[in-house]
Amino acid sequence: EKDLLEVKELCKYFPVRGGLFKRVVGHVRAVDQVSFTVRKGETFGLVGESGCGKSTTGRTLLRLLKPTEGRVLFEGEDVARLSRMRLRKLRRDMQMVFQDPYASLNPTMTVGQLLEEPMKIHGMYGNRERKRMVEELMDTVGLDTGYAQRYPHEFSGGQRQRIGIARALALRPKLIIADEPVSALDVSIQSQVLNLMEDLQAQFSLTYIFISHDLSVVKHIAERIGVMYLGRMAEIAPKKKLYTCPAHPYTEALLSAVPVPNPSLKRERIVLQGDTPSPANPPQGCPFHIRCPKVFDRCRGERPELLQIGEDHYVACHLYDKESRSKVV
Ligand code: SF4
Ligand code: MG
Repeated sequence: EKDLLEVKELCKYFPVRGGLFKRVVGHVRAVDQVSFTVRKGETFGLVGESGCGKSTTGRTLLRLLKPTEGRVLFEGEDVARLSRMRLRKLRRDMQMVFQDPYASLNPTMTVGQLLEEPMKIHGMYGNRERKRMVEELMDTVGLDTGYAQRYPHEFSGGQRQRIGIARALALRPKLIIADEPVSALDVSIQSQVLNLMEDLQAQFSLTYIFISHDLSVVKHIAERIGVMYLGRMAEIAPKKKLYTCPAHPYTEALLSAVPVPNPSLKRERIVLQGDTPSPANPPQGCPFHIRCPKVFDRCRGERPELLQIGEDHYVACHLYDKESRSKVV
């Protein structure tokens, strides 16, 4: 398959201000040299604890935030260098679905208006055509078209997320970045929304980046998964490989906490020591070394690069580096 999106050493730093004059005293490295690719038609899962930089990555890809460094290629074109015209087109091609449909939908607009608005902004279709599109969109996401005159507060959480998804679909995007789209929903509703997203993906040849802290949700929907820790990519692997033989000690620990249906398959729970350090003050060397059960000397001084260790399998850990392998394994 072809790559739709190529992310190369993406960085997003936020200034930290302090003191009387609110001078910049440091930077939070929210996203630090993150690289991955997303193939046409796949779902790429981005997982990690809250604050690991996955949402910031998503927003930076969409150019909702300006990257500090690095490159984002969408269909081979550098997103940072697009002309205004091309950027406008990009704003249609890439859409975002947010965690909290309550917060992302304007409460004073009816569902019909909410769905029509993006098409209006982008000058798509005539008036009557748009009204017809609104009905089609509602139908597509499983909402009664008779509800077009209602307001967001009249809907349940699951229905509101359907509205959010329909709104993203209105511009016929190629890529949808969904940031914790089911985290605010009851478990029973979660699978309905995930199934809907899968149906829509097939129907409209969509590519997804699915951001979640919840490995069991990502397991349901993603083909390949990137695991982030403290703004860095720790591991990228196809789903099956990641869930059966995780390479990075952090992935291992995360997975050991995921409930499995068959208790005999349950791995031993790995309890990590300490808290995640602040991204404003990340540790030297491997960002995970303070909590890593497998830490060794080299980890404290040298930051591991993301290395390929198998087909489609990448890991940033010195244990897999030939240089330390000869010494450690
Ligand atoms: Fe652990 Fe070292 Fe690997 Fe980091 S590089 S994950 S500290 S073993
Ligand atoms: Mg987040």
